[in-house]
Amino acid sequence: MYTYEYTGPTQEINSMPKGCKTCSSCGFCTGPRAYICPKCNNPFIFKIKNKGKKNKVIRDFDWRELVRGDLIKVNGGPYFMNGDGEYVPMGYRGRFSVQGVDDNGILAWSTEKDGGYCHIYMGPAYHDKNTGLRKTSHTLLKIKRKEEV
Ligand SMILES: [Zn+2]
Repeated sequence: MYTYEYTGPTQEINSMPKGCKTCSSCGFCTGPRAYICPKCNNPFIFKIKNKGKKNKVIRDFDWRELVRGDLIKVNGGPYFMNGDGEYVPMGYRGRFSVQGVDDNGILAWSTEKDGGYCHIYMGPAYHDKNTGLRKTSHTLLKIKRKEEV
């Protein structure tokens, strides 16, 4: 499998809290970190049963064996290198829910807020001299929910 090392600046885009918490008493939707309902002051009970449950991450796997519903974390992928040698990432980032695979990539839904349906390139590397785009496969992590292990 082709890999490359990205030595440029890294960005962490998964640090934003996701979703919201719905009050069991009045149905008001508030931020995920709220501990009391801002509308009716109903205290939220935190689900502690999930505590300690950590998702397992698998690094070495064959992306062609991914099946619908698998969760993956994606990085790397195609990029531009402009005239100044500046690295411009063009690939996908974040978590994706696999729908299927084809000859040179993975079809998946992004689990990010504004994410859509994507084709995550996993084919051979090539340099398109017309556009300057350097296509290269994404780096993947497979996320295995602890319940499944
Ligand atoms: Zn409430």
